[in-house]
Amino acid sequence: MVDHQIPRRRIGLIGFRYDENSSFIRGAADAPPLIRKAFHSEGSTLWSERGVNLGQPDSFFDAGDVFPQDGKDMIGTIESSITELLSYDLSPVSLGGDHSVTYPIVRAMAKRYPELTLLHFDAHPDLYDDFQGNRYSHASPFARIMEEGLVKRLIQVGIRALNQHQRDQAARFPVEMHEMKDWRDDFSLSFDTPVYISVDIDGLDPAYAPGVSHPEPGGLSPRQVINLIHRVEQPIIGADIVEFNPRMDVNNLTAVLCAKILKELSGRMLERID
Ligand code: MN
Ligand code: MN
Repeated sequence: MVDHQIPRRRIGLIGFRYDENSSFIRGAADAPPLIRKAFHSEGSTLWSERGVNLGQPDSFFDAGDVFPQDGKDMIGTIESSITELLSYDLSPVSLGGDHSVTYPIVRAMAKRYPELTLLHFDAHPDLYDDFQGNRYSHASPFARIMEEGLVKRLIQVGIRALNQHQRDQAARFPVEMHEMKDWRDDFSLSFDTPVYISVDIDGLDPAYAPGVSHPEPGGLSPRQVINLIHRVEQPIIGADIVEFNPRMDVNNLTAVLCAKILKELSGRMLERID
């Protein structure tokens, strides 16, 4: 997948065309090329708000997309893809796919970074022990991550679809959960380890992100998410943007939003890499 001749670059972009662990509506597998297209659109600039020019040729190495293959374990394939990007000193940014991809990504990240804080934007905590009998469901990745002790802290922001089982799971691990009902405009976070960021695009309000499989009103605005990313004062060593479902999108709004978050995340990551 990664050409051995590539020069050392900073961000390793990779798409996972995988939505087989979606519980309700398929379609997230179609997202990565649409996010790339919106990112490179001449309708916008490749400069981040904080002044990083992502149009510079050494900003990204694009490793392309990974597809599921018959008879091959996609979870293992995702983990080894991320391990390979890390072996080239690239900082992985993954485009989903459904949220199940985050568990194998974080497995790979944790081997490189034993002390990691996971900042997770989502309407849903995705902490089910299993969902409809599937322990690798897109509703379960953070249960697997916490069971294996892969991160030091899991901080969830934007949560607004919870049942008692997931509240019990959050208390058990434990998870630092910031529910949307408690949102305050002066909300801020502090970090004491490198940070991995997972953005489930349904964490944003469906008014901004209609192209999702599980729209849940009452969510975050793009400005709130971007400001929290800008204010991370520790190195951001990897990220994913997941759950964009193009089949549900309206006027390409969600593709453009994913591209905007990709730009601000990547800009912040490059600011922090020496
Ligand atoms: Mn979600
Ligand atoms: Mn999710």
